[in-house]
Amino acid sequence: MDPNSLKGLYIHIPFCSVKCYYCDFVAFSGQGNSTTRYLKALQKEMGSYKGAFVDTLYIGGGTPTELNAEELKFLLDSVQNHFGSIRDFQESTLEANPESLSRDKVDLLKSYDMNRISLGLQATQDRLLRILGRQHTYDDFILVYGNLRRLGFKNLNVDLMFGLPEQFLADFRQSLEQVCDLGPEHVSLYGLQVEEKTVFKKRGYRVEEEESREMYQEALERLTQAGYRHYEISNFAKPGYESVHNQIYWRDEEYVGLGCGATSYRGGVRKTNTGRLNLYLNRMEEGISPAEEEERLEGKEKLGETILLGLRMLSGLRLSERMKAEFHEQWQDLQGKGLIFFEDSKVRLSSEGLFLANRVFREFVPPF
Ligand code: SF4
Repeated sequence: MDPNSLKGLYIHIPFCSVKCYYCDFVAFSGQGNSTTRYLKALQKEMGSYKGAFVDTLYIGGGTPTELNAEELKFLLDSVQNHFGSIRDFQESTLEANPESLSRDKVDLLKSYDMNRISLGLQATQDRLLRILGRQHTYDDFILVYGNLRRLGFKNLNVDLMFGLPEQFLADFRQSLEQVCDLGPEHVSLYGLQVEEKTVFKKRGYRVEEEESREMYQEALERLTQAGYRHYEISNFAKPGYESVHNQIYWRDEEYVGLGCGATSYRGGVRKTNTGRLNLYLNRMEEGISPAEEEERLEGKEKLGETILLGLRMLSGLRLSERMKAEFHEQWQDLQGKGLIFFEDSKVRLSSEGLFLANRVFREFVPPF
């Protein structure tokens, strides 16, 4: 393993005050007393890569801002002790929820020169935020957004969701309007998926496909009008503000993920740490690898993964002869259904394909 290159470094903080009703991420509520052990475990994991040259850092979750200011400082110091000054990274993102990004934490992030903050907003109507089980109001978000701008953060992302229970097109339009008026540099847009073991699943909620499609279409138009470039299925950026870190995933490049449930991809091997918090902590303390799954992606399977990642990008994917030959039937079928199109020797998702991307991607994962 080359210790000198670590293009993308992801650190997972799996703590949340309360689990949102749609969430199936590796995130735990009521585990605040594990944070010190967790941060020490992360520090130990960082030790395997000490001295590596980091291009992009992404601290995600869970809710990284569930850490208090002292814990956040410990984490950022650990990063700097292993990988050098955060100031020198090309991009350093921290995910934050409005209710827990207090002013002292904003000051702290600024003092470390973190240069990108990603805020989970989801909707601007408090009624919908309550339905989602979110712990903040729109006013909380506005306060935090203002603090970040006042302190000079010039690269902000805002997450929005569509296809929510009791969300009407008018609500979603209003969310888009309000976000466009604020003008963050980046907007991420997620259509609700009702996942197993979530509160929404237990309540039997189903996403209305037609309404969802209308909202997605509305977002494409409104965000484009407002000067955002749609560069990935779910992501929109003002020119020059595309997420450098996330493009590492979509371009099928190497990255390292640290923490409970985090995935790394290096040397053709994908490795995922256990998503069970206590097991992760115990293993790290006993000096045992926290990796639970390890697979070497090869042959057609690897090719399929490269294709589905590449198709996420609106710029499209240049197909190798092998990609054309191995998936000949799939290309014919998807083109026939109007989900993809070929142009300038590249393949791209059509507007219907963008909305139904998961159906397209299924064609490229085994069994083929
Ligand atoms: S804040 Fe994010 S990670 Fe935490 S429960 Fe909600 S959606 Fe999941």
